[in-house]
Amino acid sequence: MISPAKTELLGMDLKELETYLQSLGEPRFRANQIHAWIYRKAVSSFYEMSDLPKELRNQLDTAAQISIPRVLKQRVSADGTRKFLFEMTDKKKIETVVIPQSRDKDTRFSLCISTQVGCPLGCLFCATGQSGFQRSLQAYEMVGQVLGSRREMARKLKTEDELITNVVYMGMGEPMLNYDEMISSIHSLNDHKGINIGQRHITISTAGEAQGIIRLAEEDLQVTLAISLHAANDSLRDRLIPLNRKYPLKKLLEAVHYYTQHTNRRVTFEYILLDDVNMGAGDAQALIKLIKPLLANINLIPYNEVSGLEFKKPSAAKIRHFYHLLAEAGLNVTLREERGGDIEAACGQLSSKRER
Ligand code: SAH
Ligand code: SF4
Repeated sequence: MISPAKTELLGMDLKELETYLQSLGEPRFRANQIHAWIYRKAVSSFYEMSDLPKELRNQLDTAAQISIPRVLKQRVSADGTRKFLFEMTDKKKIETVVIPQSRDKDTRFSLCISTQVGCPLGCLFCATGQSGFQRSLQAYEMVGQVLGSRREMARKLKTEDELITNVVYMGMGEPMLNYDEMISSIHSLNDHKGINIGQRHITISTAGEAQGIIRLAEEDLQVTLAISLHAANDSLRDRLIPLNRKYPLKKLLEAVHYYTQHTNRRVTFEYILLDDVNMGAGDAQALIKLIKPLLANINLIPYNEVSGLEFKKPSAAKIRHFYHLLAEAGLNVTLREERGGDIEAACGQLSSKRER
């Protein structure tokens, strides 16, 4: 006989846990206890839940599961950035990157999480995009990356402190193509009785899925929206980001304008610096013209080279030159320092293929 599938408790909020426990004939306060074990202590074994009666622990162990993923493999960069390989319950593998917020100490970390296994958008410069698409992640699998990483870091640093303070949806996949699960995961991360990561400490990055940007504008969330621009004219952007053919710059900028009007929140444009591709004086002029009227920052990201792809990282002098062109025009521009490049944990270097 095939045994019935276990109920997944990861991703359930307090109300849903209450309903579940009531279905087992348990009092409400059990839900509070289990909620705290999952979301505050990242515990996935019912046998470790020391304030539950023994019979209930046994019963839960046969009926339910809490799929906080184990770290299968990890690599540590010279700068302290770590890349975790997690395995989902169906054996699919994804990557999550843990980035220290200061260079000298292991204090607080930002987490870069994945929303899909692979990515269907196929951007030309991106390792994930070039590795194909397998499936979207469920909300609990996004939350699981946070809890699995927190558990691993807490063990490593021998502390019970809240180590992960910021989450960016910039790992593998396009968050807007997995919209409902992404939003649901934000609510879980945000739950002040649980993981308790403030909305202002959460960033969603999109390749320019205009429909998703409009939907996000209507959510009444305080998260930061980042848009991967990478080109300021349609012919180049069509080539680099195939999604641009569906949502060309005009459509994308209309959506961004709607977003800033509706939320009154500043957006971030990300712009990868690709040597000899998008860094000419004309590119700078087009970029200035495009961004100046908007409530926006621009973040320059020197390209992280991906083996097998033709794109090159520009020299430091070229990077400085491009930066100054934008800064002198009065744009709010920052240059992202490269983290984790030596372990292929930098943006766009994540690939489910390479790890297999
Ligand atoms: N799909 C979303 C989020 C994941 S990609 C998006 O495209 O925005 C996260 C960021 O890394 C994006 O800005 C993406 O363009 C950038 N990126 C991809 N490959 C890169 C590479 N090789 N070097 C630097 N940044 C890269
Ligand atoms: Fe997908 Fe983002 Fe990579 Fe493009 S850059 S292929 S959207 S993950």
